[in-house]
Parts: sequence; structure tokens; C-alpha cells
Amino acid sequence: MRDDKVIIFDTTLRDGEQAAGAAMTLEEKLEIAKQLERLKVDVIEAGFAASSPGDFLAVSTIAKEIRTPTIASLSHASLPAVDKAAEALKEARNPRIHVFLSSSDIHIMHQLRKSREEVMDMAVAAVARAKTYYDDIEFSPMDATRTEPEYLYTLLEAAIDAGATTVNIPDTVGYIIPEEFGQLLVNIQENVPNIAKAIISVHCHNDLGLSVSNSLAAVKYGARQIEGCINGLGERAGNASLEEVIMGLVTREDFFNINLGIDTSQLYRTSRLVSDITGFSVQPNKAIVGQNAFRHASGIHQDGVLKDRSTYEIMSPESVGVPSSTLVLGKLSGRAGLRSRLEELGYDLNQDDLNKAFEDFKNLADKKREITDRDLEALISDRRRVDVELYKLEHVQVSCGDHEIPTATVRLTNPEGVTLTDAATGTGPVDAVYVAINRILGVPNTLKEFSIGSITEGTDSIGDVTIRIESNGRIYTGRGSSTDIMVASAKAYLNALNKLMSIEGTPIQ
Ligand SMILES: [Zn+2]
Repeated sequence: MRDDKVIIFDTTLRDGEQAAGAAMTLEEKLEIAKQLERLKVDVIEAGFAASSPGDFLAVSTIAKEIRTPTIASLSHASLPAVDKAAEALKEARNPRIHVFLSSSDIHIMHQLRKSREEVMDMAVAAVARAKTYYDDIEFSPMDATRTEPEYLYTLLEAAIDAGATTVNIPDTVGYIIPEEFGQLLVNIQENVPNIAKAIISVHCHNDLGLSVSNSLAAVKYGARQIEGCINGLGERAGNASLEEVIMGLVTREDFFNINLGIDTSQLYRTSRLVSDITGFSVQPNKAIVGQNAFRHASGIHQDGVLKDRSTYEIMSPESVGVPSSTLVLGKLSGRAGLRSRLEELGYDLNQDDLNKAFEDFKNLADKKREITDRDLEALISDRRRVDVELYKLEHVQVSCGDHEIPTATVRLTNPEGVTLTDAATGTGPVDAVYVAINRILGVPNTLKEFSIGSITEGTDSIGDVTIRIESNGRIYTGRGSSTDIMVASAKAYLNALNKLMSIEGTPIQ
């Protein structure tokens, strides 16, 4: 029996959200946190409580609602920041404060403009303060892989003495090579006298495409916590992709000889949800969760797989939750059929949500003969987005053509249920719709990206629009889908504006 467990620490909601264009609303964060709980991750880093009121609210709400995993808040190494993190975690069943501070000379001298001694004192004081609130304290010396090793050892020793129960070794700039990282972990274990009192964690960035390799090497050399994000989301080139780390450890358990508490059959669903909410699609050849990850194209491979799957498959699609069959529903499919298909796709809907899904399904079945899994995903996502919006789209009508000036009429309802209508002309139909929405809402923003795709093949397919808008230096993503691309475009724009308003506040009207 193996008693060595590797703790999976998800930071999609903190480091992942820091990625340009990945800003999420409170409802979206909670939705992802619920799915991470189903995936059975051990720790959810819910945010950075002291960084903004929105982050504070996200941490405190997730701490209250999500009961099984440990909930962590990141914190600067300052006493007020630690106090803020502790306050946000007040209602958590298993709270953790995660204190971080730069430790490399490059960061200490150029960014913090302090001495090594001052940094050491700040780290010890912050960890000790955190310990007055909770037992479970993590300490991260930022840029650890470029820190002078002797200084790193003394800093880790001091943090453990002050009460850190997990010490994290971040490869903040994605610089280290797997073999070198393994050696660093061995050196830490040999040179930090009290290291046995803490769990060693790693946090790898993907600037050289090595974050997963570095994380797996770290496990071989003694790390027992891996930090990462779903779909490898995160700053710059992202963090270690958790689904790859997890399936690496599971598929090669003969090599790693460790335990995980993860329900791998939730990986696919989790990946789809994160991709859907952030608007960052997963590349088709992405390991584990890409569309082609289990597709065999060459004749020789297909022949082998038909005779025996293990010839070219090292893991099964079912093990990561890719639906085993594609079933097409139609106009005559009933509520029970829809429910069982949604369950097979990994959705866990309550009666109310199921009723709404059935209504949307019937409406779509009137317009489209065959309804596939991808259509169902689009329906559920669209409903999830619209349900939490402040301003809702009631009606959009466009007239355009080669001898007409594109003109749009848009009707919205505000949070109090009051109807707001306006009309506008534009250079094209989408422009006309967006000008009309802007006339109603009056929220300054710049459109940065507009893309349209179809969910399935066929001219009756659902159109899926993703847009990104910028306001005050932040990027907000909006999604919308409909069989009518003008409606999808209006929904996507309104979705982005709703996110902007729920994060930055609504303008006075
Ligand atoms: Zn990071």
C-alpha cells in the first residue's frame, strides 16, 4: 500500500485569472470552484484577498460555499495583507493563507529595493502573523529557481520555524530544466534542517514549455504538492496544465508510485467549463483534453485500435470523461432522454435548471433537426451566462442588404426590469447592433477582438461569437450563441459589458 499522496493545488481562479483576458465574475468563479470540488482537487486558491474588493469577495464566497477542498488566499508578506486574507477565509472549513515574497536578488534589488535581511524579516513576520489565525500556512519565495541557493535554504528554514506547513518552490519565470529542478529539490532536502516538518510544493510556469515536465520531475525528487491551472491557463505562457500533470501521475503510477485523490473522469468537463468561461479555446492537439487527443487518423493506427485499444492508446477517453458515444437528439426526444444525455456529459443540473434546459432544447429543436452534444453544451453555457446578467437582451432586429444602410433596434431590460430601447445605424449589421447597445448602456469600451465560429457543421448550425473588449486597461471576454448570428453577436457584446459592469460597477444613468 502506498501512503505517499501528492496534493493537487489548483490556482485557475488566481494565477489563471491573471492571464490577459481571463477576468471572471464572481458567479463564474463559483461555478468553476464547484466543478473543481467535483474533480476532487485538494486545494483551491480562490484569489488574492488584499488585491481588490472583488478578489476579497471571491475568496470569502468560495470559502463559505465550497466545503470539501482546502480554500487558500494568496497574500503579500505584509501584516495588513495577511489580516485581509484571514478575514476573507473566516468561514472556510479548511482555510490556508499563502504568503509570498520575492527572494531572488534580481527581484529583491530591482523590484523590492530591499536587502536580503529585510526580506527575511518580512517573510518571518508575515508567516508568524498568518499562524496566529490558522494552522495551514504556505510560504512561497517568488523566483526561487533564480535565488542564490544558500539564501533560499535559510529563508525556507526560517519560514518553517515561523510556522509554514507547506513551502512552495516557484519557477516564476519558467526558467529551470527538469534535471536541474530535481537536483534543486534534493539540495533543499539536504540543506534545510527542518524540511521534514513541511510539505514541499512546486509552482511551474511554461515559458519554455517545460512546466509539466518540471512538475513531474519534482514529484520524483520529493515534492508532494503540485500547483497548476486547468488548460494550463495563467500569466504569459501559463502554468503547469493540471490535467496533464494528473494524467501523467495516474498513467505512470508504476514509475511515480504515489496516490492522488482526483476523480479523473471530471477532467474533460472541467476543461470545457474553463474554456467556455474564459473564451480561450483548447487547441485540437492538446494532450488529454484536446478534440483530437483520442482520435486515430492513420490507417495503421485505426486498424490496431480496432483489434486492441492498448496498441495505440495509453489511457482511455472514458478515464478523463470524454463521452464514450455521440448520441444525436431530435424534436421528438423527451425530458428523460435529455436528462440522461446531460448526465453522461457530466452536467449536474437541479430540477429548475433542467426545466430551463428542456425549454431551450425544444426551441432549438424547432430550428435544427439534429441536436448534438456540442449543441447541448452551447445551450447550457448560454443559459448559465444569461441567468446571472444584470442587463438582459429582450429583442434585436436588424435590417441590412447591399442597398440599405444597416440599421438595428435593440431592447434590453435593466436589473429592475425596466425596458430600454434604442436604434442605430452602422457600417455593417454588427456595428449597428453594437452602437445601439452603446447608446443604451453608455459604458466606454474598445472592441479588441471579434470572432465567430459554428458549433457543428451545416447551415442550420448554432453560431458562437467570442468578443473581447477593453476598459481601463482590463480585457473582458463575452460569449454568445444562437442559430442567428446577429443575436449571437448581440448576446456576446452584452455578456462582455455585463462582466465589465459587474467588476467595475455600472455607470450612473
Ligand atoms: Zn504563478
